[in-house]
Amino acid sequence: MQEDSLKWSNRSPGQGHISIVGLGPGGPQDMTPRATEALAQAKVVVGYRPYIALLGELAASKEVVATGMTAEVERCQEAVRRAAQGQRVAVISSGDAGIYGMAGLVLQILHQEDRAGRIGVEVVPGVTAATAAAAALGAPLMHDFAVISLSDRLTPWETIARRLNLAAQGDFVIVLYNPKSKTRTWQLSSAQEIILQYRSPATPVGVVRQAGRPGQQVWISDLASFLSLPVDMLSTVIIGNSQTQVLGKWMVTPRGYEL
Ligand code: SAH
Repeated sequence: MQEDSLKWSNRSPGQGHISIVGLGPGGPQDMTPRATEALAQAKVVVGYRPYIALLGELAASKEVVATGMTAEVERCQEAVRRAAQGQRVAVISSGDAGIYGMAGLVLQILHQEDRAGRIGVEVVPGVTAATAAAAALGAPLMHDFAVISLSDRLTPWETIARRLNLAAQGDFVIVLYNPKSKTRTWQLSSAQEIILQYRSPATPVGVVRQAGRPGQQVWISDLASFLSLPVDMLSTVIIGNSQTQVLGKWMVTPRGYEL
């Protein structure tokens, strides 16, 4: 499979190609060399406007197809249309493109429109917000963890609440993406309420805003009081499991080694 995708990505010029690229959390230092290379090779870059802005020089001399946040489907259809015409296209997501990013949507559209598989495709992994935030906090993901998005734009709240319940019951460290926006304000306190049914109010909670970007902010609080922090859509929230500790300025979930 890997050999296959490398072969695809080396197809001759004129053959349409899509790279679905995770840019990492923000700064160029957290972008992988493979992502940089995929962007360098693309003639067209498709993505949400603020992420294109993150590219800086890398987007210079490219044709840019940028649309707003709610136009994901159109944006990916346009990327596939361009590749079908023989262009070399990069579709970008922040973090990892396969984690609440564009990878799934692009592959679904390709499956509908390019059943013959004429377009070359590769998915380029990136540093996701969970690991970028975890690194800023210390080592909170040393043991089993669950990642849950609190956005109910595409997922019914009942599904999200069920997953929160089960992850909390299973004592997973819980990473919350899309925790709160200007219009989605109650979901985070509802998540807190659910998790408090299974976990102590003193459980450490870390919040990282703008991880890996200028202006990064890091807080360590607890399950009882983290709602007072300025959590927004640029933040990732990490809720510890029953073993998670605060060691000085670090949040650590022990793996279980004897000391
Ligand atoms: N594909 C992205 C996630 C997109 S969902 C990834 O793999 O990281 C968007 C959510 O990701 C945001 O609401 C926030 O919770 C989180 N996020 C993305 N970038 C972040 C950053 N630099 N710092 C903190 N959280 C971030």
